[in-house]
Amino acid sequence: MANRTPTEDEVVAQLRAEGKRITQAKRAVIRALLDAGDHRTVEEITGTVQAQVPDTSLSTVYRILEELEIFAIVDHTHNGHQAATYHLAGRDHGHVTCQRCGTTFEVSTEVFDLFSRELRRTTGFQLDPHHVALSGLCEECRTGD
Ligand SMILES: [Zn+2]
Ligand SMILES: [Zn+2]
Ligand SMILES: [Zn+2]
Repeated sequence: MANRTPTEDEVVAQLRAEGKRITQAKRAVIRALLDAGDHRTVEEITGTVQAQVPDTSLSTVYRILEELEIFAIVDHTHNGHQAATYHLAGRDHGHVTCQRCGTTFEVSTEVFDLFSRELRRTTGFQLDPHHVALSGLCEECRTGD
């Protein structure tokens, strides 16, 4: 995975090369994720898209995100009990989420490297720290009471 977020034109060019149609809604989804720069739920993305393309439904946005995932343009993450969030692929990172306040934090993959290596050495298991956030308490919640 490259450590750089693609531009809107690069994403569109990639989809065209795959023979995909570029709809207004699709462009709006890509733009919403680029502008956000971090993680958004399908509901949040739909809200942003509807401001530009009013008749876009939640299920349309789901379908677009699924297509973008197939081409590794978009990734999703599960954050504890909350809705999954989506963001543009291209930056290697893992996630931790606070089980009390629900905040998700990005963590560089180097933080997980030691643990990943040890896990693979002892069990053969290959960790994907990006797909599901590890759960715990953030500093504020840990020291707040
Ligand atoms: Zn992420
Ligand atoms: Zn917290
Ligand atoms: Zn998943």
